[in-house]
Amino acid sequence: VAAEELPPVAPALTVSSTDVAVEMVDVNKWYGEFHVLRDINLKVMRGERIVICGPSGSGKSTLIRCVNRLEEHQKGQIVVDGKELTNDLRKIDEVRREVGMVFQHFNLFPHLTILENCTLAPINVRKMPKREAEDIAMHYLNRVKIPEQANKYPGQLSGGQQQRVAIARSLCMNPRVMLFDEPTSALDPEMIKEVLDVMVGLALEGMTMICVTHEMGFARQVANRVIFMDGGQIIEQNDPVSFFTNPQHERTKLFLSQIL
Ligand code: ADP
Ligand code: MG
Repeated sequence: VAAEELPPVAPALTVSSTDVAVEMVDVNKWYGEFHVLRDINLKVMRGERIVICGPSGSGKSTLIRCVNRLEEHQKGQIVVDGKELTNDLRKIDEVRREVGMVFQHFNLFPHLTILENCTLAPINVRKMPKREAEDIAMHYLNRVKIPEQANKYPGQLSGGQQQRVAIARSLCMNPRVMLFDEPTSALDPEMIKEVLDVMVGLALEGMTMICVTHEMGFARQVANRVIFMDGGQIIEQNDPVSFFTNPQHERTKLFLSQIL
C-alpha cells in the first residue's frame, strides 16, 4: 500500500493520556552469550500506537515477546499496566490476560473450530460462561468480517482470514494492549490490506498497539511513533513524518532505502 494514498488517522487521536501502558527501563537480554537486547528504554502511553521496524535479526520480536514474558529479560525493568514482570507467575498471568498478541504465523489451534479458538481463553482463563463467550466471539468475528467462518477449522481458511481470526481471538480477552509481530509478512499481497484494515480500525478506537511491521503505509497512517532497531538497540525514534522524510542515522537511511 503506497503511503501517500492513506490519509493519516484523525488528529483527535493523538495521545492525551498520561497513563503509562508499558515501560521498559534499561532492559538487557542475552540468549546464552549473545547480547540480543541492549539498554532498551521505551515508554508507551495508553492509547499510543508504536511501530517498530529494523533489519532481520535486530531483536524486534525478542523485544515485544519480553512485554508478555514469552521471553525473559536478565537486566532492567519491564512494567506492564502497573505490574512489574518478575518471576512472580501470578503477575505474569495477570499481564498475559491484559496483553493480546498476534504472530506472523497466526498460531491458531488447528484442531479447534474458529469459534472454539476464540472462546477457549475466555472460558478457561476468564471463567466466562460458554454462551457469553460465544456471543462475544461472534461479535469480534463480525468485526473482522468473517462471522460465516465460525464453524470451520483454521486449515479451511485463507491466510488473511486466519490472521483476522487471530486478531478476533485476542480481542475476545478484552486486552488493554495489543502486540503485533509482523502480522502481514506471511500473507499474499491481496490479503495484506484486509488485515491492515482491521488494525487501522483498532487504532481508530484508541487501542494501545505495539506493532512490528514493515508496512510503512500503515506506520504513516496510524503510528504516533516509529522506532528503528538495529543490533539489539533502539537507534532512532520519531513521529512517522519526520522518521520517513528526515531519518537521522546512516543505518536508518540505509534501511529505509532498502524497503521503500
Ligand atoms: P527480529 O525479530 O528483529 O528479526 P529476533 O528478536 O527474532 O529479531 O532475533 C534477534 C537475534 O536473536 C537473532 O540473531 C536471532 O538469531 C537470535 N535469536 C532469536 N531467538 C533466539 C533463541 N531462542 N535462541 C538464540 N538466539 C535467538
Ligand atoms: Mg521477528
